[in-house]
Amino acid sequence: MSACYCGSGKSFALCCQKFLDKKEISSDAQELMRSRYSAFVSKNAEYLNNTSTANVAEVKFNALDSLVWLRLKIESFTENEVTFKAYYKDAGKVQVLREHSFFIKESGRLKYDAGVILESKIERNEICPCGSEKKYKKCCGK
Ligand SMILES: [Zn+2]
Ligand SMILES: [Zn+2]
Repeated sequence: MSACYCGSGKSFALCCQKFLDKKEISSDAQELMRSRYSAFVSKNAEYLNNTSTANVAEVKFNALDSLVWLRLKIESFTENEVTFKAYYKDAGKVQVLREHSFFIKESGRLKYDAGVILESKIERNEICPCGSEKKYKKCCGK
């Protein structure tokens, strides 16, 4: 069984897959955030659009999109807010997106409503987000 994209340590089948396959709907902001990250990795635009409110721009994936998601790190969460870091590689360069996300209930379903981008950078001594287990400065940050 393959590990879930969201980095929970569980297998995909036991983690985000049930949400992406629309078998279950999460009412937990952290779980929803994780499943949305997994949807970004697997380019599941339908799921992303179904789990966000009308305030959020429609997600469309471009076949030429060079962006590759590497890793999700949840920093903190409450019932309807999640702060996370998502690492990605774009045009060969590792970058980080740090965001404080807000979720609200719409027709009884929890949905992503807004996000505030927070300042962040990859620390030189941090383990490289690419999965090499080396320090960033000795790997992609060289
Ligand atoms: Zn997952
Ligand atoms: Zn690396």
